[in-house]
Parts: sequence; structure tokens; C-alpha cells
Amino acid sequence: MKTVKTLPERKTIALVAHDNKKEDLLNWIDVHADKLQMHNLVATGTTGRLISEKLGVNVQRVLSGPLGGDQQLGSMIAEKKIDIVIFFWDPMESQPHDSDVKAFLRLCVVWNVPMACDPATADFILSSPYMCTEYQAMVPDYNNYLKRNIPES
Ligand code: PGA
Repeated sequence: MKTVKTLPERKTIALVAHDNKKEDLLNWIDVHADKLQMHNLVATGTTGRLISEKLGVNVQRVLSGPLGGDQQLGSMIAEKKIDIVIFFWDPMESQPHDSDVKAFLRLCVVWNVPMACDPATADFILSSPYMCTEYQAMVPDYNNYLKRNIPES
């Protein structure tokens, strides 16, 4: 059965950046602040603090990523509470919470959530006409998975 999720005009956008990428994200947000403020923003703890302190942009905060924030956002993805993810992760350094990062990135794909991991892709997403209209996002069908046979002993 095919299901869709209607992304509203005013979207909920998750913002996360690893430490070496925080400046890139802040610069990107600064350039696009007017557009971004037409949406609901949610960020991991430190990223969110810097966004509000340095740019004065209103953002809801969860815990810091390594302290559970990535998992909180992942749970919001699974509950379909996040429409778009902007996650500038660091490809040059491993993180103490690499397993959480991987889980979060995986859930975005599991639930077909548009995700940008670099400023160029973020530009493409933000300039999409779907940013200011409703969008019917296909929700993958996991019914066969849920009904799968479980081996019994
Ligand atoms: P932070 O978390 O914004 O609290 O630094 C980022 C991350 O998830 O690694």
C-alpha cells in the first residue's frame, strides 16, 4: 500500500553540524536566515546555541549530539516530526558518537526525508519550489518487513 506524508508549507527543519563544520553551517544559515525563519527550526544543543547566540535566529534545541541529541532527532524522524535535515557532518574526523550519527543518517533514508550534508546540497534544497508549497512525500512501505517470518527453534 502506497502512503504519502504531506509536508506542510511551513516545514520543520533539523540543523546539526559537527564542530569543524559549525562555521560552515552558521555562514549558510546567516545567508538564508530570512527564508529559514519561515519554517520551524530544531537543532542539536551546541549547534542550536550558536545559531541563536551568533545569529539571533529562533531555534528549538534538543540535547547536544554526543549526549543523545542525534538520537532525539532520529526519534523525531521516525515519528515523522521532521521534514528536512541539514546535517553538516565531518568527513575527516571520527566522532565519539559515530554510531548515533550513522543511525540518524540511516533513519533519514529509511523515512525518505530530504537531507543535505554540505552547503551546495543545502542550497539546492532551500531553493526548491517545494520549500514554499505542500509536498507529497512518498512514505516507504515496510509492511512486508513487519509481516516477515521469524525463525522459530
Ligand atoms: P552539537 O551536536 O550541536 O551539540 O555539537 C552535533 C552532533 O550531533 O554531533
